[in-house]
Amino acid sequence: MIRSMELGLKGLDKLDGKMVEGFINSLNLFEKIVLRLTGVLFIASFKLEGWESKLPFYLFRCSKHGYQIGYPNGHGARLICFECIHDGIKNLGK
Ligand SMILES: [Zn+2]
Repeated sequence: MIRSMELGLKGLDKLDGKMVEGFINSLNLFEKIVLRLTGVLFIASFKLEGWESKLPFYLFRCSKHGYQIGYPNGHGARLICFECIHDGIKNLGK
């Protein structure tokens, strides 16, 4: 199970669409239904390299980029799509 391997993450930059797809395929039926209905599924709390403590990771759907894995950011604890952030950085140069 990918979850018990802590997604093999050293950093979120290692996370690509194939890993997200593989993770979705490993979900049980109940988890797939929760994800389909709510668009968000709690995965587990992980501590990544260089972090002081664990953060909860979620699988969620970005309207632009499809399913993503991330953790809540900022005061509103929003789940932010890293591909959207990359797009934003790219667009800064335009
Ligand atoms: Zn996105």
